[in-house]
Amino acid sequence: MDQSPHAIRSILIVGGGTAGWMTAAALANTLRQGCTITLVESEEIGTVGVGEATIPPIRAFNQTLGIDERDFLRETKGSFKLGIEFVNWGRQGHRYFHPFGPYGRAFDTVGLHHYWLRAREQGETAPLCDHSMAWAMARQNRFAPPSPDPRSVLSTFDYAYHFDAGLYARFLRSYAEARGVLRVEGKVAAVRQHWETGFVTGVTLEDGRDLDADLFVDCSGFRGLLIEGALKAGYQDWTHWLPCDRAAAMSCENAGPLTPYTRSTAQEAGWQWRIPLQHRTGNGYVYCSQFLSDDDAATRLSQRLDGKALGDPRPLRFVTGRRNSFWTKNVVAIGLSSGFMEPLESTSIHLIQAGIAKLIALFPDRSFDPLVIEEYNRIAVNEFERIRDFLILHYKLTERSDSELWRYCAAMDIPDTLATKIEHFRRNGRLIQRDADLFGPPSWLAVHIGQFNTPRGNDPLIDYRGVDGREWLGKLRAAMQAEAARLPTHEDFITQAIGSR
Ligand code: FAD
Repeated sequence: MDQSPHAIRSILIVGGGTAGWMTAAALANTLRQGCTITLVESEEIGTVGVGEATIPPIRAFNQTLGIDERDFLRETKGSFKLGIEFVNWGRQGHRYFHPFGPYGRAFDTVGLHHYWLRAREQGETAPLCDHSMAWAMARQNRFAPPSPDPRSVLSTFDYAYHFDAGLYARFLRSYAEARGVLRVEGKVAAVRQHWETGFVTGVTLEDGRDLDADLFVDCSGFRGLLIEGALKAGYQDWTHWLPCDRAAAMSCENAGPLTPYTRSTAQEAGWQWRIPLQHRTGNGYVYCSQFLSDDDAATRLSQRLDGKALGDPRPLRFVTGRRNSFWTKNVVAIGLSSGFMEPLESTSIHLIQAGIAKLIALFPDRSFDPLVIEEYNRIAVNEFERIRDFLILHYKLTERSDSELWRYCAAMDIPDTLATKIEHFRRNGRLIQRDADLFGPPSWLAVHIGQFNTPRGNDPLIDYRGVDGREWLGKLRAAMQAEAARLPTHEDFITQAIGSR
């Protein structure tokens, strides 16, 4: 079939990290003819090389590409993730779980947590997370996919993965190259623009080669070679809300059982991640350079590993925030070039996926209709800001006052959009949602309750229902524990899954 004379005929992706190869794979899968896709990357510059924990929508990304879960787990040394355990966040010595999926099954018009709050007033001590199937499995190191039977408690959870981001990029590279994506090794030295419109016409590599295209996807990482270097999109700095700006990352040998969850432990000047993969455990200390030196961060991280260190700590620097504009002229920024909000809830790879989905849904022609660009940017701003608020919630809701960082966070001003949500929950335990929010009510609930934003009152509806939730909550907990105990261990499940082809 003939293409429109205005159709995009060539795309250049600048950068071959997770963002570049996810974009290349998804575009190759979508644009099956009529458009060449080229990716340029520089081995010498390398990639960020961290980014190992994800959230459930990643499964839809892989499924759209037709990737088999077992192949994916084998190739990326992946493991399963049922949520995040937060240690020492609300208070020192306290822990809670942010599960993927709801708390139990909807059994009444009034949410489960209102019955749980009422039961607490009556002396019940079971924590909220004991009503989550994801936590029932996580605490016993068990895993199996959700049941398709909606009557089973085993249908009431969701899951994501931990994986080696470098191996994932390699895996997607093979996928993309098999579908015609051309990879060019080289360093971009200059970006060429139309003298009048400012549209990017091509890039010139250090060795003098020119790469031209109609559409450019900037996946060059924090540098933002095209979106910032050439087009000067500008950056909104959110450091006053999300103050961590450095990380030290290192791996260690696995020690103990393979846990199907990420752990985030709040530390004196930030927090430490623990991400278990099949062959090693990823660790990192995300910290605020105003309150801790790089050397101290590296030393403390090395001292707080579960297993024997594999290599030295690797330093990383970033500024939390977002580009003022994600799509400008004929350049779309995807990945770290579009902004970064620190890895607390593992949202960066998701934002790559969301950027790709929007680009495909709003795929342009060479007229680059401003209406399309405006819509892309509008949605992206909302996505970033809703995630931003959820992340700030973790820092703001702390009772810790034992170090400068936590005193700063407890006292800092927060966006009005977040303040409203905190106040609604504090008054009546209501979880309000105004815009499309990546994190649904159960996620917000986990953090509010887990970090002691305890409602002063209950949903007034509960008194009209005539239901005593205590017995039901007790049965739910027992059913979840019993069902979890019947599942294979996480490790056995992975061994079976990757061995069964
Ligand atoms: P990069 O990995 O930096 O890739 C940039 C690419 O551009 C490279 O290929 C590079 O060679 C190329 N390039 C740059 N300049 C040039 C040039 N001049 N010429 C040619 N090529 C060039 N995300 C999650 O989802 N979960 C997590 O748990 C998580 N943890 C993180 C922890 C930390 C401390 C950090 C900093 C990030 C984390 N992320 C996480 C984010 C995740 O790492 C990134 O979103 C992801 O790796 C995508 O990076 P990228 O591809 O945009 O950039």
